[in-house]
Amino acid sequence: MQAYVIAEHGGPEVLRVEERPAPEPGPREVRLRILAAGLNHLDLWVRRGVPGHRFPLPLIPGSDGCGRVEALGTDVRGIAEGECYLLSPGFGCGECAECLRGEEPLCRHYVILGESRDGTCAETITVPAATLVPLPAGLAPEEAVALPLVLMTTWRMLIRRAHLRVGETVLVQAGGSGIGSMAIQIAAAFACRVITTVGSPEKARRAKELGAEEVILYREQDVPAAVRSWTRKRGVDVVVEHTGEETWEGSVRCLARGGRLVTCGATTGAAASIDLRVLFFKQLSLLGSTMGARSDLREALHLVAQGRIRPLVDRTFPLDDLAAAHRTLEERRVFGKVTLRGWEC
Ligand SMILES: [Zn+2]
Repeated sequence: MQAYVIAEHGGPEVLRVEERPAPEPGPREVRLRILAAGLNHLDLWVRRGVPGHRFPLPLIPGSDGCGRVEALGTDVRGIAEGECYLLSPGFGCGECAECLRGEEPLCRHYVILGESRDGTCAETITVPAATLVPLPAGLAPEEAVALPLVLMTTWRMLIRRAHLRVGETVLVQAGGSGIGSMAIQIAAAFACRVITTVGSPEKARRAKELGAEEVILYREQDVPAAVRSWTRKRGVDVVVEHTGEETWEGSVRCLARGGRLVTCGATTGAAASIDLRVLFFKQLSLLGSTMGARSDLREALHLVAQGRIRPLVDRTFPLDDLAAAHRTLEERRVFGKVTLRGWEC
């Protein structure tokens, strides 16, 4: 099979296609032919490398994917050749205490496709059968692959970690990003009032279509002042953070008393500080979150089935153009997601 293989970290030019033997499924595994793959910022980190973190190179990138079953392990039941499934981008061992209480992202053996084991930017992939998720009805593979990683991650942030309640106020940082556009939709589905930040009037229009009540152009407006005015000096109940250093201080200032800030990323830098007096006087909660459990993904897909959450695909590239897809995401020229059509399609 053909597969993109990252043998060394660097720019998009390190994404090279290699011929590899198709992986044979173990007893509880299935092999799928990739119909579509989805890109995330994680793909950029894996390609560029992260100081102090070691990725298992050479590695096939790609965390999101959709495929057609073409080979089954001997112990696999309830799945047939020819059926199409979404891949769960991350999964735990399924047997430890954390996995058994549904907290897979806390599992010591949690793996992420395209990060800690071979991913979806290939002709085929082999994964545990138990990690497959039904393809939502009415969605083409190149649309559906815009969902899994960002949907499970954002669901875990808002629902499991921040315990979002109906009618709360939510600030979503970078509403045009994958996480941001999903957070707007989830919060709106819970009848929450959403204010979000974007970089352009065009992105502001799109964010409103998704359910944001108020949009802040962060290049022109003071974000905490805008939030203060929108909430009549109260602040918001929940802040969805994933940008890091550049927005952190403002995000904390936007919180109401008893507010919760939940973060899953630090794309602009990882250094942050907080005035501890603000933390305890305002009784704030600062929450970290990463990836999600398969149960998060399955739960969230109910809202997709109801049409309350939809995948947002900005552009779809052929898998032959993976480098161009990386560049497009890297330059932040997108609203929502960049996806790839599989080699077979
Ligand atoms: Zn486990």
